[in-house]
Amino acid sequence: MSEPALRLAGIEKCYGATVAVAGVDLEVREGEFLTLLGPSGCGKTTTLGLIAGFFAPSAGEIFLKGRPVAGLPSFKRDIGVVFQDYALFPHMTAGQNVAFGLKMRKTAPDEIGQRVKETLDLVQLRGLAERRPLELSGGQRQRVALARALVIRPAVLLLDEPLSNLDLKLREEMRVEIAGIQRRLGITTVFVTHDQGEALVMSDRIAVMNAGRIEQIGRPAEIYEKPASRFAAEFIGRMNFFQANGKTVAIRPERARLSREQPSSGFARQGTVRNVLYLGATLEYHLDLQGERALVEAPNDGAGPRFQVGDPVWFTATRESALEM
Ligand code: ADP
Ligand code: MG
Repeated sequence: MSEPALRLAGIEKCYGATVAVAGVDLEVREGEFLTLLGPSGCGKTTTLGLIAGFFAPSAGEIFLKGRPVAGLPSFKRDIGVVFQDYALFPHMTAGQNVAFGLKMRKTAPDEIGQRVKETLDLVQLRGLAERRPLELSGGQRQRVALARALVIRPAVLLLDEPLSNLDLKLREEMRVEIAGIQRRLGITTVFVTHDQGEALVMSDRIAVMNAGRIEQIGRPAEIYEKPASRFAAEFIGRMNFFQANGKTVAIRPERARLSREQPSSGFARQGTVRNVLYLGATLEYHLDLQGERALVEAPNDGAGPRFQVGDPVWFTATRESALEM
């Protein structure tokens, strides 16, 4: 087995009584796109800062290609970082922002010129090298920040919620574009987000974080279809929870069905339709199952039965779709 590109072993970070990172073990493979996904305050930015070397862990060790990095300053770690607010130098042009890291590394001027040009092309900013950040759109600034991190050809790329300041349409385009650039370059990447949609679309693997710990790590489909904890099940996608035989049964709204008759097998609860939301491509049925609330998402494909508010219904799911936790 080759060494992972990046390894965190028993990493903790405390600020006084606040435990920002409470014991993280993580391996990121060479060329992998790994996402830290979790709610605000769960320790994502702190974890990135520890990897980048902006501050030291309270406990544990970090390894880059098998080598411990304790004591190694940030600029010697061969890591590129894109910050949430981009942190561009406002008085410098896009080209100068991108050139900055190479200048610090005393790269020859000719090579700087060549690499800045290549990298601006890569992020589709050809022709905008002379603009200052204020003369660029939000999306273009985001590309400058990405180019600035990539131009040094880092061993590891760290991205802290780089899409959160963009509007929805641009955000969705940039998801695909950033993942595309990452795969073309084959650069080991740790991406941070609180947006489950981003994580599912972009990642090779997702690490679900909660209160300074990783609750689950796996491929997007594993995380979504076999959540390991109630937290993971609720944070990624939507979930119905029921008590059954002393266990909790979890059923995704799109895996549940509505029926007029009681099914002969699988999971079933009887109730009434409380509300119907028309969402175009789907219909959302809000149910009252004898006091318990539940949600069913049905494709608006013209095939299934339609139900009205007040209709008596059965909420059903196959055995395979009813996850026990
Ligand atoms: P996330 O990026 O997931 O939103 P952070 O890593 O920024 O979370 O923060 C994790 C926790 O650590 C939060 O409770 C935050 O308030 C706390 N924290 C982060 N940085 C500091 C700091 N410099 N001093 C004190 N507390 C901090
Ligand atoms: Mg953060």
